[in-house]
Amino acid sequence: MPLYIHLSIHFIVALLSGYLIGSFFKKKKIGIIFGILGGFLIDLDHVIEYFLVFGIRFNLLYFFESRQFLISDKIRLVFHAWEYVPVLLLLAYFLRKWKNVKVALITLAFAGAIHLVSDIFINGYYFRYYSIIYRYRQEFLAPNLLSSSAYQANLNYKEELGI
Ligand SMILES: [Zn+2]
Repeated sequence: MPLYIHLSIHFIVALLSGYLIGSFFKKKKIGIIFGILGGFLIDLDHVIEYFLVFGIRFNLLYFFESRQFLISDKIRLVFHAWEYVPVLLLLAYFLRKWKNVKVALITLAFAGAIHLVSDIFINGYYFRYYSIIYRYRQEFLAPNLLSSSAYQANLNYKEELGI
């Protein structure tokens, strides 16, 4: 699936998640902002991954080729994790006195979880792949995390790019 379609799906679903939670709590604006943050801008961890591998020299082509993952052979993706969902919901509970904060945190959790579910369907990864504890235990190594066919596809892609 082309990246722009993948991202469009995330954007629309994020907007919808935010709108739903926002409407439920009668805080539409907060819902939409944090829906987009949790459900769309969550993918900014791909950018973090890039800087971890390449430093501050940014090359848009490399980024769109996902070279950072190919070169490091690691998948950290610090924002993609189920673990944040209960943490955010607990925080929302403790900070419930501030309604805006509560709605923001619940929306982040909801939109983030929906994003991960969409990623599982779109990318065909396992549920456990989106646990950061699981990835940490696998030392974030792509060969441990990906199915053998997905990893082989990575190797083929690397060869194609000549890296
Ligand atoms: Zn994602």
